[in-house]
Amino acid sequence: MQRNDRLSRRQFVRSAGAAAAALAVSGRAELRAETPASRPALPLAADAALRDLLEGNERFVAGRLMHPRRSPADFAAVAAVQRPDAIVVGCADARVSPEVLFDQGVGDLFVVRVAGNVVHGAGPIVKGSIEYGVAELGAPLIMVLGHSNCGAVKAAVKHIDAHDLPPGAIGELVRLIEPVVARVRNDPGNLLENAIVANVSTGVERLKSLDPVIAPAVKAGKLAIVGATYDLNTGRVRIVA
Ligand SMILES: [Zn+2]
Repeated sequence: MQRNDRLSRRQFVRSAGAAAAALAVSGRAELRAETPASRPALPLAADAALRDLLEGNERFVAGRLMHPRRSPADFAAVAAVQRPDAIVVGCADARVSPEVLFDQGVGDLFVVRVAGNVVHGAGPIVKGSIEYGVAELGAPLIMVLGHSNCGAVKAAVKHIDAHDLPPGAIGELVRLIEPVVARVRNDPGNLLENAIVANVSTGVERLKSLDPVIAPAVKAGKLAIVGATYDLNTGRVRIVA
């Protein structure tokens, strides 16, 4: 029963993506404006997965959570096999929990979280985890998710000027973000906000070029990668890459 519910949901999600594509083709773009953020053109399965995430975030923002697929029957239904709809590469920050802010349930998201949602230079533990979600679990979408007021990016902004680093491996982690800060430090606007977006974009670009698992999947149209930021004040997720 629960497995059927789960399958039905996935089929619904996929058919919703097909409907979105049909609308785009027919030019009824105003209906797409119902979604909370502008979305890039994606393969169907990825588009459906992204739509599902953004609709869940819209419920979170509005305080109308459905808390889907969290009953004992739900988690028993996916005990043997996981088949997540999306991979979320997010920050370890206590306030940015993907299942909560996207209103998703058990088995829906394959989540990789490290401070500063660092991908570039993060090594085989992070990259291998993401690749596993693609190669073994077949997730059609990766979202790199940064957030406002990110402590790891703030530390990179602070220490790049001070020419010192926090102790231990914290310093090594911050050093991975410093090139991103250096790249945007003369851009107009707020340096921290620009660096947070650039850090997300850097992660997206790194994954798109990551052989031998992820880059070929993107080229084959089986996988899409997007970047987004989460606003700690409003709860809203915005697509930025
Ligand atoms: Zn953070």
